[in-house]
Amino acid sequence: MITQIGGVVYLASLFLASRIRRNSWAGMFRRGVTPLAFLVLYLAATFVLVPLLAVPLGRTPLPIRDSAYLKPFSIWICLLNRHYVRAELKTTLQQVAVAMQKQHPRTVTVYLDANFPFLNGFPLIPHLSHNDGRKADLTFFYTDRKTGKPVNDKPSWFGYGVCEEPLKGEVNTASFCAAQGYWQYSLLKRLFPQPNKAKFNFDKTRTRQFIELLVEEKSIEKLFVEPHLQQRLKLNAYAKIHFHGCRAVRHDDHIHVQLQ
Ligand SMILES: [Zn+2]
Repeated sequence: MITQIGGVVYLASLFLASRIRRNSWAGMFRRGVTPLAFLVLYLAATFVLVPLLAVPLGRTPLPIRDSAYLKPFSIWICLLNRHYVRAELKTTLQQVAVAMQKQHPRTVTVYLDANFPFLNGFPLIPHLSHNDGRKADLTFFYTDRKTGKPVNDKPSWFGYGVCEEPLKGEVNTASFCAAQGYWQYSLLKRLFPQPNKAKFNFDKTRTRQFIELLVEEKSIEKLFVEPHLQQRLKLNAYAKIHFHGCRAVRHDDHIHVQLQ
């Protein structure tokens, strides 16, 4: 459920480990043989076999380390096979990332969870809709609070959960949804500590330009951005930007995009 392929690889590693144990030379590390077989097979599957199989089946991995424009928030997203999209979405994100870097040198676009490599309808927990290769989450941009300079680092240690709270006078969907009984709406923020939040400021300029670049892409059908940020960034005129509803979680910590 977390990696899509982990269960299959585990079965394969049990088989491989039982074959290895039959050899007498394996006796001294009998206990470690299954975890070791799992580790080797899992890494081989994740970085070699799965990308090869996914492409003809309609999903392609987003860049891991080979791009100066677009990168994962953390290698864990790729280790868990959560960085697969349809080729069209990869091309779109690459184009937008290149355009961002043209406007703001050294700016790197950072992606979060996308989709698993195989099967439409296979859920990418905990997301409600990342199950068909058409969706991806992207981070906001920030400035360093001390120097005021744009940075590529992010305040969250796992990519989500550091929310840009509504300011006075802005619509507050978090309290609206909580009042309707949707207890999960701000769950991530409540669950995880945010030790680095004070080091960053939300970069309105780059985040707004980034969202506009995404909106201008023909292939993009819609984006989810929390209503108070739409208001603050003056994005209300764009029909592609939607409120995701109280059944989801907050979208004032990341941007969700999806293909037509
Ligand atoms: Zn999403």
